[in-house]
Amino acid sequence: MSELIILRIVPEWGDDSNAIHPVVVLDGDYLALFDCGYFGSLPSIEAAFSEHDLSCSQLTHVVLTHHDHDHVGALAALKRKYPQVQIVSGHEEAAYINGTKPALRLTQARAMQPSLEGDAAAFGLKFLQMLERLKPTDVDITIEDGDILPICGGIEALATPGHTAGHMAYYLKALDTIIAGDAAVLEGGALILAYPQYAENLPLAEKSFQRILDHPAKTIICYHGGVFRR
Ligand SMILES: [Zn+2]
Repeated sequence: MSELIILRIVPEWGDDSNAIHPVVVLDGDYLALFDCGYFGSLPSIEAAFSEHDLSCSQLTHVVLTHHDHDHVGALAALKRKYPQVQIVSGHEEAAYINGTKPALRLTQARAMQPSLEGDAAAFGLKFLQMLERLKPTDVDITIEDGDILPICGGIEALATPGHTAGHMAYYLKALDTIIAGDAAVLEGGALILAYPQYAENLPLAEKSFQRILDHPAKTIICYHGGVFRR
């Protein structure tokens, strides 16, 4: 029997609009966390686990949708403190998570910074410095579209590229639920395309968003926005 818990983490520097929703899925043998928050958010994740009578020391897997800073920010700290955790990501994202390739947002921010002025330049510089502080982390298990992670009743990888090149959503078979990552965002009760201005490949992101909409799963969990039920 699998069980699912949706965490809600508001970063210290932000407000409700910055809330993120990492997901915990567990069965008798495994405890998996889907995406792991902003840089510095490990204590918030640990506190959220405690609220549900869980501990990160029970974690067996961290499953990542993609390499953006709000999804892998706490990964290096988490792996250092809980080395038993197996890190899982799509094959293409692994190169960004382990530092072989520079993060997409870092490339975008470096290109944009010289054109910014005033407050925007100050904000941009802070953002850039935060991105540069992120530590690469090795991925233990890489997966492709259609692969099934044999834990918690079977977790199927759904390739949903566009927001980043190797973005993966995940279908939890036992719970008939999709963990959408940033393939979709929930805003005002509606599923929408996530941040088209930041998409690495907008037509692909639109196609991936459609894949999520067309999937028959009853529940879709968006990292930004939370739960959508149909
Ligand atoms: Zn995100």
